[in-house]
Amino acid sequence: MADKLSAVKGMNDIVPPKSAVWEWFEQQIRSLMASYGYQNLRTPILEYTPLFVRGIGEVTDIVEKEMYSFTDALNGEPLTLRPEGTAAVVRACIEHGLLYDGGKRLWYTGPMFRHERPQRGRYRQFHQVGAEALGFAGPDVDAELILMARRLWSLLGVRDLVTLEINCLGQADERARHRVALIAYLEAHADQLDDDARRRLHTNPLRVLDTKNPAMQSLVEAAPKLIDYLGPESLAHFEGVQALLRAAGQPFRLNPRLVRGLDYYNLTVFEWVTDRLGAQATVCAGGRYDGLIEQIGGKPTPACGWALGMERVLELLAEAGQTPPVQAPHAYAVLSNPALMPQVLPLCETLRAAGVRVQLHVGGGSMKSQMKKADASGARWALVFGEQELQAAQVGLKDLRGAQDGPQQRLISLEPVSAVVSALL
Ligand code: ATP
Ligand code: MG
Repeated sequence: MADKLSAVKGMNDIVPPKSAVWEWFEQQIRSLMASYGYQNLRTPILEYTPLFVRGIGEVTDIVEKEMYSFTDALNGEPLTLRPEGTAAVVRACIEHGLLYDGGKRLWYTGPMFRHERPQRGRYRQFHQVGAEALGFAGPDVDAELILMARRLWSLLGVRDLVTLEINCLGQADERARHRVALIAYLEAHADQLDDDARRRLHTNPLRVLDTKNPAMQSLVEAAPKLIDYLGPESLAHFEGVQALLRAAGQPFRLNPRLVRGLDYYNLTVFEWVTDRLGAQATVCAGGRYDGLIEQIGGKPTPACGWALGMERVLELLAEAGQTPPVQAPHAYAVLSNPALMPQVLPLCETLRAAGVRVQLHVGGGSMKSQMKKADASGARWALVFGEQELQAAQVGLKDLRGAQDGPQQRLISLEPVSAVVSALL
């Protein structure tokens, strides 16, 4: 036998029965987005590398060390597997002129790629759902986006397991003034900085505040706070978001250290966090990115959005003991003799056309083994096709979930088909 090949490290197959949970999750997402009037947008998985370098920022974890970038061997173009969705959404909106007739509310889902150390809740190919509202200055749409995530937690039955943290990053000039103070503070405590922090001190000092190093926590806690450098407009926006959240009964924690790992954010930033997933605590994160569209070559346009990690949300579901309903077939069709297939195959087609989910037994085998498969399929009914019954235009119907000592199997007429359909649905 040839050597077994395996999937790339940190990239997972999603196989049955777990894939059914993914499908169910995706259905919840679709109905959630529809109920808020968000439209689906699909972008390619590959983009030109400069989109992310420009869009996400040069001094970010993603661009510094997490991107799968390569040169197209055929034409020398610099390409990158998308590490996140927002930059591409913005590119597509500009490219297709989607922002010229007012705001757009969009959502996407799909795989993202980051070269990180694989661990629970952190993979190299992972999946995100994202919502982006472009062309709206907020704070109303900021609050709507946050509440939309809350609605999803309710749909998924995990609302009690997540809490909301928010912060305001202000505008570039406010951050610049804070930055001066922050650098001065960090320089004064240079002996307490770790390598990452020292490296970021002059390039992206705000990110130093985002450190996960326990040894630096007290230093970071006492650092100058951005909120003290915000002007009246930024504060009013932040107050506006908070007032709307309060009006909607959504509690939140003000987290002055919430800065987010991407460069493009301003004003509102938020994260939905949980204490049920160990170190990978953030299940959904987002904020306002009013400067990004211009940075990618469009007209200045305010925008806000979030992205959630599907793997983390599904792990949370599992933690909560949530077992979503799985779409089993209505009926499992078994054949007393494989020679009946030419009659049974089209009959099953007819039933499916009428809306019945029918799993047809293939590959022969004894009645006993076929009935075992029928049971394992999760179907409510077994349709038992026999030669004599078919000649009489009949089929055996067995309730697989009925009482053990109840009526075992009854014959029903195949004509009209509508009667069979109503017996099965
Ligand atoms: P983290 O601080 O955990 O690295 P991040 O700030 O890099 O997160 P974002 O870029 O904001 O993450 O992505 C939004 C969401 O996508 C995260 O909150 C998380 O749920 C999920 N996510 C990010 N990176 C990964 C990954 N490598 N594997 C699985 N999920 C991820
Ligand atoms: Mg990250």
